Amino acid sequence: MNDLQQRMETHIGRLSEFTATPGNGTTRLTYSKEDLQARLYIKEKMQEYGLQVREDGIGNIFGRLEGTLTGAPSVLIGSHFDSVPNGGSYDGPAGVVAGLEVAALFKENNLTPKYPLEVIALVEEEGARFEGGLMGSRGITGVLNEEDFKNLTDKDGIKTIEAMAEIGLDSSLPKKRDPKTMKAYLELHIEQGPILEGKGIPIGLVKAIVGLVQLEVTVEGKAGHAGTMPMEHRSDALVAAAKMIARLPELALNEGEGSVITTGRLNVFPNGSNVIPNKVVFTVDLRSGKEEHILSMIENVKELVDSYNDSGIKTSVAHQLYMAPKAMDSDIISLLKEKCSELDVPYCSLNSGAGHDAMVFSDVTAAAMLFIPSRDGVSHCPEEWSDSKDIATAVQILFEAAKALTEAE
Ligand SMILES: [Zn+2]
Repeated sequence: MNDLQQRMETHIGRLSEFTATPGNGTTRLTYSKEDLQARLYIKEKMQEYGLQVREDGIGNIFGRLEGTLTGAPSVLIGSHFDSVPNGGSYDGPAGVVAGLEVAALFKENNLTPKYPLEVIALVEEEGARFEGGLMGSRGITGVLNEEDFKNLTDKDGIKTIEAMAEIGLDSSLPKKRDPKTMKAYLELHIEQGPILEGKGIPIGLVKAIVGLVQLEVTVEGKAGHAGTMPMEHRSDALVAAAKMIARLPELALNEGEGSVITTGRLNVFPNGSNVIPNKVVFTVDLRSGKEEHILSMIENVKELVDSYNDSGIKTSVAHQLYMAPKAMDSDIISLLKEKCSELDVPYCSLNSGAGHDAMVFSDVTAAAMLFIPSRDGVSHCPEEWSDSKDIATAVQILFEAAKALTEAE
């Protein structure tokens, strides 16, 4: 194991200790105690690697290596450091520590970039605390404005700015960043799927990120006693919701081309074992590589939900998030291919089935992503694992690409 690989193992190992569920995967919600612990570790490493550290008004972390050109835009490298509940150690952190080690290689090689290099660690990509997801990058690019950010609450009704204050973050700092300050955004991420492992290839170059939509369906019926209300008099919101959810897979299958639909969260009210549910709220997550499929699935879900409206049941559909499929920057993909060939690293091209911060950045700057294999293709669970050797390989590629993009000497 070389030094770089060893450092990757150390970083990943340390970050995985900052979990609310020790022994049961990584649970690191945004602005939690574990967020603060991971944040301190990342900031400490940034300082150690000679980067100027700052945080913005959403809590994103930036470690900057100044360039020689005054006022020049930065090349950003990083990923997110939050997790889903009981997730793995690699989704997000692999990309953050890759960014850190690219900066370390600049330092080790005494390189002075013309354009600044910024290592970036983003908050709330998963949306596990404040819904919607991609919050850090949406804040930086201005897609999420100040007002909407302040109004976001977690499931306990705690507001973003209150949660930030809890761990000593200053929400009054600037959030949106002028696109002119960004030259490129590079992100390493685990594949979270089985393709690279199946092919035995260490590096995937992402062509496009599939479009992603989150809908929230509300079904309202009437509460009643589970014993005394006869079946024919009931307006059971959960029974209606269950029928709708059971029909969602066929909508995705009919659409084809890898389109997928998932209901991952369901809230039942009042949620008592002997009370007929009067309200159910559930999520619908739709994804596809083609926008036409996404639009058509949205329509079909709405039509399906609407068909359950009757005298006793009332339904509504709210849009939580809409992200169109996003192509990655073709010039940077070419550069990455060139660097893979120079380093003699096998690679292939693929689409990303998961949403990533890179898709948000691609609207304002040249964005590109590298994938490394995920063992058994699993992610968002404690079993998630990637080889530190592959992360180290990706760091070498990113380092070479970052040198070219910052024109470092
Ligand atoms: Zn991720």
